[in-house]
Amino acid sequence: MMLASSQPTLCGVNRCRLPSKHDGNHDPYPTKAWSFMRPNDKKKLVKAGFATPRGGAKGAYQNHVVRSNQVIIPFEKYYLAPLDEYEDGYVVRLLPEQYFESAGVSKPEFLRPDNPIQVGKNAFVLYRTHSAYKQFPPPAEWQIRYLEKGEESTTKRGKDVQDRGHYVLRISTASAGEGRLVDGVPQGLFAPEYADRETNYLCTCVLAWLIVHTVGSPYTTTMANHLKAILVEADLFDESRYEHKGVLRHGLCSCPLCLRLIQYKQLHEIVSFEDAIGNGNAAEQIEGATRSTIVNLFHILPLRYDSIRHIPENVAWGHAVCNTRLGQRSCHSLAELMETDLKVGIIKEEGIETFGWISGDYEMIRSPLGAVWIQLSRDMDGDEYTPPQPGEGDEGSIGSGIPVVLQDEEGVEDSSLDR
Ligand SMILES: [Zn+2]
Ligand SMILES: [Zn+2]
Repeated sequence: MMLASSQPTLCGVNRCRLPSKHDGNHDPYPTKAWSFMRPNDKKKLVKAGFATPRGGAKGAYQNHVVRSNQVIIPFEKYYLAPLDEYEDGYVVRLLPEQYFESAGVSKPEFLRPDNPIQVGKNAFVLYRTHSAYKQFPPPAEWQIRYLEKGEESTTKRGKDVQDRGHYVLRISTASAGEGRLVDGVPQGLFAPEYADRETNYLCTCVLAWLIVHTVGSPYTTTMANHLKAILVEADLFDESRYEHKGVLRHGLCSCPLCLRLIQYKQLHEIVSFEDAIGNGNAAEQIEGATRSTIVNLFHILPLRYDSIRHIPENVAWGHAVCNTRLGQRSCHSLAELMETDLKVGIIKEEGIETFGWISGDYEMIRSPLGAVWIQLSRDMDGDEYTPPQPGEGDEGSIGSGIPVVLQDEEGVEDSSLDR
């Protein structure tokens, strides 16, 4: 059957997504589909396919790489993470306090051969402070993590390249004024940002299609016919689904949080003080605002360790300001809230004045005209009222008493850039 004359059929050989009867090699992931775009748009799309650079690599993260790469699973997330879905591999990160019982003595469970976590194979120990390095020094036989291809050491990850070694040093001067100790290759990317190549490609296709539909976009849908054919084939072309999520509104690209239409130029303009005010509230500090564009990649459901969420159904373009305000909450759409039919209103003498709908988790209220209320803190449950018993809380600190939670892992921060 012939499709509409202007829309190409895809080649399909070896899952090739080039138009049929194309020249040259087959390609399942052709960036050619958005070759009509301006360089800065292409750059923005490339960036969306990359893991967000995190805190100066202090967690041994690999920066400036596509999402389809090895990920780091912190030990405390190991049983939560969908390990089978990381097609490009994973490595488990242990902190010295988690791995060692005392200086030079590992906890017995890590020595058991049936433990799925084996330092030196699929796990490494990350030293981030001088005190932990002194208290639990790496055993003499341990090696710094490095990469090996065949028998040769290499600096670049790639095909047939294996991780070797046991530990990584990322100790900054801030820890004790004892000098920096940095050694060992970056181990992988922040696991919640992972997407396999196919998924990452389709996300980029959706984002490219949405750019075409921004207000004032220099592109026409006819230019995007190849892109459309790819989305149709992947069953990602049903506009009603995008409308339902608030990613499109009346066929135009829309911010899923505030419902305002996205203007093309906002993809590239830097956030200013006025944007924060203009968006409805008094000026507020927006993290990373000085270097963020007004509109960024936006995930409707926040990225988390327990599932892979950089997927075509979950990506949009949204305001950096909205992203920051939403934090680690799910962005319930207006349509979704209206369906749950939990109306909220004000009780007045003359009756109840309803003004919106609330999400089932009580985190968000929306009015039909775009206003959004977000729950900032939760009710305490009964247990939290119980006063601590005398003496309690003196113990229970782990190891050196250095907090085990790493600052840059409290969910996905850098939220003004990418959520
Ligand atoms: Zn082909
Ligand atoms: Zn917004």
